[in-house]
Amino acid sequence: MTQAVVLAQDLTAAGFVALGAAIGYRWYRDRGRAQGKLALALIALAVVAALSRLPSSPLLSLVVVIAFMLSGYFVLMFRNEFIPLSRTFHTAATVLLAVSIVCGVLAVTVFQHANPVLVTLLGVVLVTTWAIFTGEPIVRFWLASNRLPAVQKTRMRFLSFGFAVLIAILFVDVLGGSSLQSPTAVIVTQLLALAVVPIIYVSLSPPSLLRRIWRMSEENALRAAMQDLLIFTPTREVIAERAAFWAVRLFGATSGFVVDAKGKVIAASGMELEQATILSDSQSQSSDQIVRVPLHLAEGQGSLCVVAGDFTPVFGTEEVSQLRAYANSVSAGLQRVGVTERVAAVEENKTQFLNLASHELRGPVTVIRGYVSMLQSGLLGQLNERGRQAAGVMAAKVSEMNELIEEMIEAARLDEGGLTLRTADTDLREIARSAADAVAPLVESRHRLVLDLPERRVRVKVDVDRTKTIIANLLSNAIKYSPEGGVVTCQVRSRAGVARVSVSDEGLGIPRNGLPTLFTRFGRVITPETEHLKGTGLGLFLGRQLARMQGGDITVASIEGQGSTFTLQLPAAPPQDGATDGAAQPAKDRMRAGATRGVDRRRTD
Ligand code: ADP
Repeated sequence: MTQAVVLAQDLTAAGFVALGAAIGYRWYRDRGRAQGKLALALIALAVVAALSRLPSSPLLSLVVVIAFMLSGYFVLMFRNEFIPLSRTFHTAATVLLAVSIVCGVLAVTVFQHANPVLVTLLGVVLVTTWAIFTGEPIVRFWLASNRLPAVQKTRMRFLSFGFAVLIAILFVDVLGGSSLQSPTAVIVTQLLALAVVPIIYVSLSPPSLLRRIWRMSEENALRAAMQDLLIFTPTREVIAERAAFWAVRLFGATSGFVVDAKGKVIAASGMELEQATILSDSQSQSSDQIVRVPLHLAEGQGSLCVVAGDFTPVFGTEEVSQLRAYANSVSAGLQRVGVTERVAAVEENKTQFLNLASHELRGPVTVIRGYVSMLQSGLLGQLNERGRQAAGVMAAKVSEMNELIEEMIEAARLDEGGLTLRTADTDLREIARSAADAVAPLVESRHRLVLDLPERRVRVKVDVDRTKTIIANLLSNAIKYSPEGGVVTCQVRSRAGVARVSVSDEGLGIPRNGLPTLFTRFGRVITPETEHLKGTGLGLFLGRQLARMQGGDITVASIEGQGSTFTLQLPAAPPQDGATDGAAQPAKDRMRAGATRGVDRRRTD
């Protein structure tokens, strides 16, 4: 058993000596001020551990006591580097150090063979002082760690935990007396102390695997941050700020900043912009303290930098490659914003063009329309047959132009947010009928337009004129894109609070890859079959926007070469008590059917 005790004591001593040597070597390489204080504390502890294993002598005991007290004092000084001590606290700590060293010297010299109670008392003074020197910082570090990134937080906690275990062991050792002198108790305390060695070591120099594991808790947040950067973040400034913030958090750095292609610091986290600018300009920073990775921007190469502090990891290759990958996402985010800004500028130009062109054209077209109508009505003198024909063609073309201008004005209004709806409680069947009437002149003999309306009234609260325009556009498209003819059906239905107008045709259909462009402004699907057909690509764009403004939508189902179905959905208003259903309507319907060329009307319950 005694052999086991000796082995445990030797192992623990060797562990602390190795810890002191490793930290001492790291300090020798990096020369950080704060790191130095901690290195001195651990080297002093290593001295205590090593000398305690040598045959006891008064001189040795003296050195052990002094080294032990200094180890605690240096931990307090390490804390002072991060969270400065007040002057009084500082002086009190120095006085306490001197008093405890005197007590220790007395204990190992004058009172060496004195009353055991007195010796224990002196031991308690020493251990209490050491516990104050180390306990206060570990509580502070533990509390401060709450605000830190995952890696730093865990390191601070490991350090605090390691010293807390040492304090506990020392107290138990001094106060436990003879009950703790049993071999088992000694082995247990020695092994516990030995376990502290790796805990303190990884807190100071964590291997990359551990760093990666500690970072895991922040991975989800990082993923959300990446998504935010790549998709949603609106401006370059905000992206740069978030990028710097996350880089600091992720790599457990103390600060970070983003530099644009011109070398200007555009965002900083954990430091002021001016400070970042100075740091960015100075070349003196060693690569261990600052990691700089490139940002590939459209205007050239910028950089993303993270700066290590006294208690941040010295960045390893793993951090650097991760930071590179992160910087690529940041570059992509910045590029996206650049593209979005350019697209927005183009869109703005389009709107301005639409506005200008449509308003400038409206006046002359109104005048031409007036004169054409006067020509047709004979107010400017009687026309011969060819003149009347020409006036007819001119009237049709001017009316086409007028529709186009109205579409352009509507699109410009929509872009500028100046479009207001005039909603009224109406029957969707009525709107569908008048839309069908409006497109009747387009229906040729090879087409058949079928109106499939329900028996009951379909109550909707919508802008009647605009809804009519939407349906008329769907119908005119169905006719236009069915050059071979066929049946065009306009079906109105209402179910589960949704009113629907579906316009189906048996025409050209739309290739699958064309579907996403249909509802965009000026979006046209040009194929060999459609290239000769005239159009602006504004109708569906306007239709969908207007439908959405009214709480509805337009959807499409199409098979190339077989035909398409466009469905306008609108929220159905609840039926009113005593509302008339379609029972009174057939007479009117028949009458109108006669007036509308080529339109079949069908009723369904
Ligand atoms: P326009 O018809 O003036 O070009 P729209 O916005 O109304 O503009 O339609 C956009 C595009 O959608 C059209 O250019 C056409 O390619 C396609 N499209 C619309 N309706 C149909 C349809 N019924 N069948 C086939 N293609 C259609």
